[in-house]
This record gives sequence, structure tokens and C-alpha cells, in this order.
Amino acid sequence: MTKESIMSSGHYSSTGLEIEAFDPELFQKQLAPVISKLKAYINDSTTHGLHLVAPNLLKKKAQAIMNSNAKELKNDKITEIIELLIETSIPVYSTGYMGRQFSGVIPLSAIIDFACAIINQPSSFYEAGQMPNIAEHIIAEEFNKLLGCHKDPFTMVSTSGGSLANLTAILTARNIKLNDVWKNGLNNQEKLPAIAASNEMHYSITRAAGILGIGSNQIVKLPSNNKGQIDINQVQRTLDKAYQNNLNVFCLIASAGNTSMGAIDPIKQLAQLTSKNNIWLHIDAAHGGALLVSDKQRPKLDGISLADSFSVDTHKMLFTPSLCTLLFYKNKSHAYQAFQQQASYVFEEEKDIYTHFDAAEKNFECTKRPTITNFWATWAVYGRQIFEQKIDYLCELTQKAYNYLLLQTDFEAIHRPEINILCFRYTHKDTHITNDLQLKIRDRLKMEGNFFISKVKLNGTTALRVVFMNHKIELSHFKLLISEIRSVSSKIISELKLQNEKTLLE
Ligand SMILES: *Cc1c(COP(=O)(O)O)cnc(C)c1O
Repeated sequence: MTKESIMSSGHYSSTGLEIEAFDPELFQKQLAPVISKLKAYINDSTTHGLHLVAPNLLKKKAQAIMNSNAKELKNDKITEIIELLIETSIPVYSTGYMGRQFSGVIPLSAIIDFACAIINQPSSFYEAGQMPNIAEHIIAEEFNKLLGCHKDPFTMVSTSGGSLANLTAILTARNIKLNDVWKNGLNNQEKLPAIAASNEMHYSITRAAGILGIGSNQIVKLPSNNKGQIDINQVQRTLDKAYQNNLNVFCLIASAGNTSMGAIDPIKQLAQLTSKNNIWLHIDAAHGGALLVSDKQRPKLDGISLADSFSVDTHKMLFTPSLCTLLFYKNKSHAYQAFQQQASYVFEEEKDIYTHFDAAEKNFECTKRPTITNFWATWAVYGRQIFEQKIDYLCELTQKAYNYLLLQTDFEAIHRPEINILCFRYTHKDTHITNDLQLKIRDRLKMEGNFFISKVKLNGTTALRVVFMNHKIELSHFKLLISEIRSVSSKIISELKLQNEKTLLE
């Protein structure tokens, strides 16, 4: 189109800007069909898995949308985009979804998230995120009540994700336990700085060690027991050995709900040891920290209030849109010691009643999505009970699934689940094929498209892993999964036999 014909089409401003794209009436019109599509998506009442599309095909589909140039088809394009997003997503609202730690959201939290996207404030500073910064304080207070820390409260910062929270916590520990590292780097250390963590730690810990100049070789691995927890009896010995090897372990990271099995490390005993050894204790409670909101589950986190820091993802077991993590510090001043920086163009030297609430000095991010707001709003409208009920349900469901597994002679549970993650194996009398079989089962289940589960490797043993995040799932759905695993396995095994016979003939 020439500029003249563009102008005469009536959709453009005198500066050539496509006005239609900014039209509030159109905004509302475009939204309505999107909402009905999403309503249907949330209302998913079938049991199914992921529909994996070949990347080249998906790229072609996406490009076809771009290349169709009929202007009047804009609404169709929006619908096509939403459909494509839904079709290609892991179906988190389906009862076939038992795979990972993200989940369908409490719809209200997504509504507020959407509102925040339109309002679009960078939110690291009080003036550009008044409500988010207040929400952060309110949520901190609520958690302090649950922790029983009214008098000596934890300070809280929100970060974009558990990985960034772990990095920030270890950075803070480094700055506090090692002298002048922020300014001088790690050059002047007598012993090599090191961190200790479980064998089963999340990979973000290794990354943090790399990023912070500690180096992944300086991660002291704490042996775990058969429940997947740090074996408390071996911790002091492992720390002593590290010290003899010229390592200065300044931070120990425990998990509350580790990624592989949901195991909760013995926090209280670890806190005694770290306090005795002058080591910072960080609890990576990205998954399991949410148990704090449940009166029934909270005792599982006994001792967490003794930690120097801990982190909780709201986008996991608190069912808000990705991504918002709560990072707690026992000592208020520590929150400011992660980033010991002057930047006069934004940071105020003398704080007033407003800048006192700025989150930016405590946070890696500058522009920051205010996702804390949707968590707070959900809490404000439904109360903590909405989270508590769902968490209790999911934990009970996992116990039932475990009990059911115990009755099946052709399955073995790897552990007694502590939260909502359950690892198990389909056993076969021919034991040497069992490891490989689990992987094949998982892949075949994914291909058949009725269920979405994950897999895990635990001390060399491959297992199937289910994570219950969807409250619509009942024990009957798990029973369906178990029978599907049986049927898939018998197919795999007969194919293997055929292959074997062929190779024997050759
Ligand atoms: C998910 C998870 C993380 C990483 O959190 P993100 O929000 O995905 O960055 C870290 N640790 C544990 C134990 C987790 O479960």
C-alpha cells in the first residue's frame, strides 16, 4: 500500500500510526472471544496429554498467520493465535496432566496478572508500583504470622523465579560471610569459597556457583539417604573433610520439596549444624514452601524459621501465573547486602516514607513485573484457605496413589511421598531391562497422548514421576494411568522381543 492509500483507509492517524491497534473499543471486542476460548480451556473435562507438533510444521503454521495479509481478518488471526497456543500447550487443566511442577492457575490470579500487564508498571520503585510494593509487605506479614515470627520477622523480597531467588540468596550469603567480595572479588580468600548442597539439589544451585565465581567444583555434595533427604549423620563429617581440603563452606543449601522426589531435608537439625559451623543456611523451598499456608502440612517444614534465608515459588504450589518467588531473610539488613551498589540516578541516599518501600535495591531486576500483586489479590479475595484446601487435597491424593501402588505386584514405589510428587517403577521379571523400560514407557505415554507424566533418575535408577498439581484429578485417573502403563509396557516388551528374534536370525 502507498502512504496515500493507507491514509485514506481511515485506520491511520495523520502521522501514519495504525490507530486501530490502540482503539479501546476494539480492545474490548478483541478480548471477548479470547476469554471464551480460555474459559473452554480451563473447563477441560477430558483426560489427555500433550499434542507435540513438529517444530518445522509449527513454524509454518505460525508464519502462515503472519503472511495472510487481509486486514479484515485480524480477528481471525487473533483466534488462530489463541487456538495455536492452546493446542500446543501441556494441558495443565486436564486430568491427564500429572507431569510437572507448573499448573493451571487460580483464574482470578490470571485476571489480575492481565490487569497488571495493561497498567504496565516497572514496579521496582514505590512510585511506579505502589500497590505491588505494599502487597509485598502484606504478604511478608502474613507469612511471618504463619512462621510464628511476629516479634522477629523475616524480611521478604520477590524475585522472578526460584532460580533467581537461589542466586540472590547465595550472593547475599557470599557478601556477608566473605569479606569485601563485592568490591574486591574472590582474590584474597585464604581458603577456596564453597557451598554445600544435597546430591539432589536443583540445577540452579550449580549455575549460581558458576555465576558467583565459586565454581561448580567447589560445590560440596552432601550424601542423601534413601528418602532423598540430606543424610544428617554425614553432614558434619563432610564439612570437616571439605575444610581439610582447603575449602571454606560459607553456605549450605537444603531443599524443602526437592525437585526429583519432593523430599524435605531435616531442616531443624541442619540449622543446628550450620549455626555451630558459622555457615549461612538457605532453604530452597521453591516447591514445598507453600506448605506453610496449610495448618495440616506446616509441621513438615518445622525449623524453617531458623534459616538465614528461604524461597517459595508462588507459581508452583500457590497456583499463580509464572512467575513470582518470595525470598525471605531472617535479618532485615541482609536483604540490602546482596547488591551493595550506589546508583544515584535511581537510588535515594536519604530515604523518605515512599522510597523506604522501593524494592529495587534488594532485587536484581530493574524493570520488574509486579506478579506479587496477583498472588496478594487472590489471597485478599479468597483467603489463605483457597491455597490450603488445594494443597491438602493434592497431598492426600498423592498418599492414596502411593497406597494404591503398594497393592500392585507389578509396580514398585521408590519412596513414601512427603508432598505431591510420587516416583515409581513398572517392574518386570526380566530385571535388566527395567531401567530402559521406564524411559520407553514415558516416551510412549507421551506419544499416545492420554497422559503427561515425567521421569527421573535417582542414584542411577530411572523411575516414572507424577506430580499432582490439578485438583480435578481423582484416584480413578491415577488408576487409569496405571492400566495405561501396563498396556503400553506390554506393547513395548513384545516389540523388544520381535527385535531380539530378528537380530538372532540375522
Ligand atoms: C522449581 C524449582 C526451582 C527453580 O525455580 P524456578 O521458579 O523454576 O526458577 C528451584 N528449586 C526447586 C527445589 C524447584 O522445585
